[in-house]
Amino acid sequence: MGRLSREHQTVEAMIRIYCHDKHLFGDELCDSCQELLNYAAYRIVRCPFGDDKPSCAKCTIHCYNAKMRDKIKEVMRYSGPRMVVYHPILSLAHYFDSLKGSRELPR
Ligand SMILES: [Zn+2]
Repeated sequence: MGRLSREHQTVEAMIRIYCHDKHLFGDELCDSCQELLNYAAYRIVRCPFGDDKPSCAKCTIHCYNAKMRDKIKEVMRYSGPRMVVYHPILSLAHYFDSLKGSRELPR
């Protein structure tokens, strides 16, 4: 599995946890969470770093607009700790990616 699709899966999993707990639409995402997921997925696909991209939390570009950034931050704050319970593998992969993202550039 490539980094980008894993990033997508991680974001989707976090939004699903958040929506399920906060908005109670059963297994479907509510409209605003679906919109957020579509937006996040589009940003991931369009990311200029491609497969070298650091995890979004460490990214220097901050490509989300202000409204979506606030939303995704809230989702991550809520779902981040819960990911360890629901999606331990994804969560670990995300953790290692964030380590990798903070590495120094080769001299
Ligand atoms: Zn929702």
